[in-house]
Amino acid sequence: MAQEKELEGRVAVITGAGSGIGKAAALRLAREGAKVVAVSRSDDEIKQTVAEIEQAGGEAIAVTADISKEPDMKALYEQVEKTYGRLDIVFANAGINGVWAPLDEIELDEWQKTIDINLTGTFLTVKHALRLLKQAGKGSIIITASVNGTRIFTNTGATAYSSTKAAQVAFTQMIALELAKHKIRVNVVCPGAIETNIEESTEHRHLDRVKEPAEFPAGKIPLTDGKPGTSEQVADLVLFLASDRASHITGTPIWIDGAESLLL
Ligand code: NAD
Repeated sequence: MAQEKELEGRVAVITGAGSGIGKAAALRLAREGAKVVAVSRSDDEIKQTVAEIEQAGGEAIAVTADISKEPDMKALYEQVEKTYGRLDIVFANAGINGVWAPLDEIELDEWQKTIDINLTGTFLTVKHALRLLKQAGKGSIIITASVNGTRIFTNTGATAYSSTKAAQVAFTQMIALELAKHKIRVNVVCPGAIETNIEESTEHRHLDRVKEPAEFPAGKIPLTDGKPGTSEQVADLVLFLASDRASHITGTPIWIDGAESLLL
């Protein structure tokens, strides 16, 4: 008899599902039977993710949305309700590197853009999911922060980014307490360097006054002699946190970094 898949019948919203960690998580959760709602602001990216899920025999829909725009997030969950009538898992993962520059070179609009996407986007993704999650009677929310959220890279200029990632950890722990009575678990993954397209979202400036990427501690990951981790490794952790195997874990930041952050 075929073994039942771990997330059979569950519905998972995954933001940033068109690339990197979000895409790997979308494919992984779908393989375990979840119906995936793949969200990104790039239409082409998520259509590709959905096509790959369907080719592998899974079920998914694509919703194009900008996580920093409240009307988009409201419309997302209306679409989830209309299509599947329920929600069990939210992976609030989309994010950008944003501006990396010395503090006195960071313009307000650059700072604001990083905050709007990484922090306000997480708030909106989670806030508008709550009605459906509460209806389901239990749920799992997973947020992607970073090792930068708990330990700080030396002088890389990633001040705006790190501020949002630290705030995501505090956000996770606040709402884990608030939502415990609804049996909704909230955890936050803190990856170190992972091979993805994230560098494309970095706006580096005046790196002569901060460290060059080659000098970052990420170049010295102890477990792998400096080789970055993979999106699939993070996706495995997300699957675990989404599943009932993690039923007693909430409010927890988890590093996934080959001990990179121990060097910070
Ligand atoms: P990626 O660039 O490969 O993927 C990011 C995805 O988010 C893309 O699909 C992109 O279209 C989407 N996105 C960006 N802004 C959006 C918005 N406003 N609305 C909707 N979608 C949006 O990057 P990744 O490395 O997979 O990043 C995923 C998360 O992991 C981010 O939160 C990032 O900060 C975090 N992270 C990455 C690393 C790393 O080394 N790659 C390390 C630590 C944390």
